Amino acid sequence: MTDHGDERSRSARRTDSAGVRSRARGTLLGLACGDALGRPVEFRTPAAIEAEYGRVTEMLGDGTYGKPPGTVTDDTEMALCIARSLVERERFDGADVARRFLAWYDSGPFDIGLTTADSLALVREGTAWEDAGRRVWERRAEGENAGNGSVMRCVPYALAYRETPDRLAEVSRASSEITHADPRCTAGCALLNEVVRRLVRGEADTEGVVSDALSAIDGEDRVPDELWTRVAGLPAETDPETLGYSGYVLATLESGLYHGLTADSFEEAVVEAVNEGDDADTVGAVTGAVAGARFGVESIPDRWAETLEERGELLRLADRLLEIAPETT
Ligand SMILES: [Mg+2]
Repeated sequence: MTDHGDERSRSARRTDSAGVRSRARGTLLGLACGDALGRPVEFRTPAAIEAEYGRVTEMLGDGTYGKPPGTVTDDTEMALCIARSLVERERFDGADVARRFLAWYDSGPFDIGLTTADSLALVREGTAWEDAGRRVWERRAEGENAGNGSVMRCVPYALAYRETPDRLAEVSRASSEITHADPRCTAGCALLNEVVRRLVRGEADTEGVVSDALSAIDGEDRVPDELWTRVAGLPAETDPETLGYSGYVLATLESGLYHGLTADSFEEAVVEAVNEGDDADTVGAVTGAVAGARFGVESIPDRWAETLEERGELLRLADRLLEIAPETT
């Protein structure tokens, strides 16, 4: 290669690494923005949201939970636990993540899922982090055993493990199992993180990324049929009229991926998602992570980002997650 060629490839790498950094920052800040925009209208119907607010396009105070504008919920708080642990331990350490989840739970958060609370209560009593989620899952009935509480927090792993997809899938599943052991939840985390990993690396096209990610994580036939069927046609074959916005993990994944991958901008993606109400903060968080990974941090409106107390830490953590090179075996 000539010197000029070296120059060109160095410059291409610099450009690429700036893009990766922007998309990594967009992933974490996007998650928090979607969470905070959706928080005031969680549990509302679209009609009730329209009657009270018209259309939610700004960070609102009060509403559900009665908090100031830009207040994030468990989705962002638990993602922060994971990101801080990864940065400090420089690898996935399930016991450390579980300890941080428990410390957060013991701080008295205003929003926590039932499955998460039950699992962390077992951890507090001495159950190993590997077993807690499974024990809770085994005593829960179908219909209340596959919530979105692990999918909502999992994306920091996609930044740290962006070069090692097999290990990313493993840690995504293991981290889910601390609280959510249902195969739809564990595979859902692996799927979302594989999609985000591809978007952050700048390799993905929005049409093919979900089906490619599904194929990539489907080793040893571990993607449940129900998950495969529900998301394989995303986004082109999805009818937006059929999307759900509940706390069911597959509804959240489908809607978050759909809005994140089809909107023309970060803002449009998150606004469309949260105005559907129901589990608005979590669908907003997943949508925001996907759209932030796709469009980069510059696409996130300043008027939203500047309301977030956690903004500076989220950006610093995103940068640090790109620097660590976790174990690959
Ligand atoms: Mg929440």
